[in-house]
Amino acid sequence: MNDLSSIKETGAPVDIATPLPDGQTVTDVKHWTEKLFSFRLTRPQSLRFRSGEFVMIGLPGDNGKPILRAYSIASPSWDEELEFYSIAVPDGPLTSRLVHIKPGDQVILKTKATGTLVIDALLPGKRLYMIATGTGIAPFASLIRDPEVYEKFEQVIVTHTCRQAAELDYGRELVENLVNDPLIGEMVEGKLHYYPTTTRDESAKMGRITDKIRSGELFTDLDVPAWDPDTDRVMICGSMGLNLEVKELCEAAGMEEGANSKPGHFVVEKSFVGEGGIL
Ligand SMILES: Cc1cc2nc3c(=O)[nH]c(=O)nc-3n(C[C@H](O)[C@H](O)[C@H](O)COP(=O)(O)OP(=O)(O)OC[C@H]3O[C@@H](n4cnc5c(N)ncnc54)[C@H](O)[C@@H]3O)c2cc1C
Repeated sequence: MNDLSSIKETGAPVDIATPLPDGQTVTDVKHWTEKLFSFRLTRPQSLRFRSGEFVMIGLPGDNGKPILRAYSIASPSWDEELEFYSIAVPDGPLTSRLVHIKPGDQVILKTKATGTLVIDALLPGKRLYMIATGTGIAPFASLIRDPEVYEKFEQVIVTHTCRQAAELDYGRELVENLVNDPLIGEMVEGKLHYYPTTTRDESAKMGRITDKIRSGELFTDLDVPAWDPDTDRVMICGSMGLNLEVKELCEAAGMEEGANSKPGHFVVEKSFVGEGGIL
């Protein structure tokens, strides 16, 4: 268990153990670092979503008005529960409180799911790249557990870049355990490739993913050809800066951005609003 004492709640503590309108019950919480945690919620029957989409979740604020924020659903669409992977921003209106939740507490969940990081927004292809930084791994944690991804693509490559090595743990553990999953273990074997990098801590692979795409190091390491619109599809989820850079690299490779209404070669979604981020 990490020490969360440095993350003070903003405002008065709120009773989140009694049932709330749109409330779902916390079933599990895991703290990965002082600033990163994952949690699971009961899933309302009315919530239908496609793997990779996001919903609004929150907690009651001081004035009784809920504090709601966008969150990618990290669990696949077939899961009976919902999983989320969250940052804890020290003065963040929502996450300075959310970081303290425990099993049995209530979290508000709005059941309208939406987003562009979905298989439907991509044209058919051979290789699917998922490029994530920080909590941007969350929608991909959903997608890499969805059988549809392995039915539609021969190879699935997840890159995850964080400053510190410990910030990779949630994604790494998930990927490593997937081959033993009774539902999709066999589909994943030999198809899913994980490419973690760090920008600050020493690790086996260091550096920004954009540099590795630009220099071709990513493709050499994976032993695959460089991006080609005929075969490759890319999903991007990170800070505004990362998203713009990878988008430019996709466009330079001749790819066109896709949307739900018009599938393309790549899709992009912010993993938070604002520049830089706290990780
Ligand atoms: C489509 C979408 C999906 C999102 N999915 C997730 C998710 O799955 N997990 C998650 O933790 N957050 C996610 N976010 C961000 C989330 O909505 C909140 O911003 C975050 O939970 C912090 O809320 P807050 O009220 O504590 O602070 P806010 O006032 O919302 O944010 C304060 C500052 O913290 C920084 N920040 C916020 N979120 C992050 C982050 N995730 N990583 C790094 N820095 C950040 C930014 O600089 C921001 O200006 C998503 C945002 C969008 C737009």
